[in-house]
Amino acid sequence: MKIIKTVREMQQLSDELRKTKKITLVPTMGYLHEGHLALVRRATELGHVVVVSIFVNPIQFGPQEDLAKYPRDFDRDAALLEKEKTDIIFYPDADEMYPGAFSTYVEVKKLEDHLCGKSRVGHFVGVATVVAKLFNIVKPHFAVFGQKDYQQLIIIEKMVNDLNMDIEIIGHPTIREQDGLAMSSRNTYLSPEERDKALLISRSLKKVEELFREGERNTATLKKEVEDLLHQKEGINIEYVNLCDTDTLEELGTIRNKAVLAIACRIGKTRLIDNTILTEA
Ligand code: AMP
Repeated sequence: MKIIKTVREMQQLSDELRKTKKITLVPTMGYLHEGHLALVRRATELGHVVVVSIFVNPIQFGPQEDLAKYPRDFDRDAALLEKEKTDIIFYPDADEMYPGAFSTYVEVKKLEDHLCGKSRVGHFVGVATVVAKLFNIVKPHFAVFGQKDYQQLIIIEKMVNDLNMDIEIIGHPTIREQDGLAMSSRNTYLSPEERDKALLISRSLKKVEELFREGERNTATLKKEVEDLLHQKEGINIEYVNLCDTDTLEELGTIRNKAVLAIACRIGKTRLIDNTILTEA
């Protein structure tokens, strides 16, 4: 497994590889868990060269967010990726990615006006910009993203489509702990008591899936179910519970045949997100 830290070296290696092979990229911010590793396995299954990037992207964090304390453990990540037989880790530092005079940003309009984009102003510009940069550096044919970050996934799909990037985006379902909690590097911030409260998020997704299967299509009714469930325990601050169009992310009043239910809330100081796609069988 190669560990590459500079843009130049990565681009040169990718140019060389692309003469005979295809490349699949899995972008991450490290502190890997089974969710990330599922993406890596999906990438490996494709049978091409697998590059995993590890970069805590400063420009996607707001001034009040957790950039400084975001968990990092490169040695552990590298050991996990070695076990998965990853070919290359791209591990640049912030100066390498954003040298002094950096001033070009990618903005995917409209899609960023919903869900997390409302409270995390500038977040998705940071995400789209770093992903565009990673695509130019690693030059992959395929890139794997998790549905856990649903808005991110469709923003990247839109960017790739709008800017004619010749890359196939592969979405991977959310990986959960046995009790339903969506895996996240930020789960390490939760105290046992907070973690217990966090279980209500996935439980409320399940509840809505069940109601949807039974025929409920009114989003106000479904939304209220989630809010009531989350309010069962004190200390869960809901940021949003929305039922949206899966492509435009616009809020729906009545679901026709498909919707994404997306939730963001704060438990203590930790912000957690989760979602599920409701679709007619
Ligand atoms: P992050 O390191 O949080 O930026 O995540 C890197 C990639 O892993 C993104 O595409 C995420 O959507 C994906 N990811 C994070 N958590 C999960 C999960 N529990 N299941 C599936 N994919 C995930």
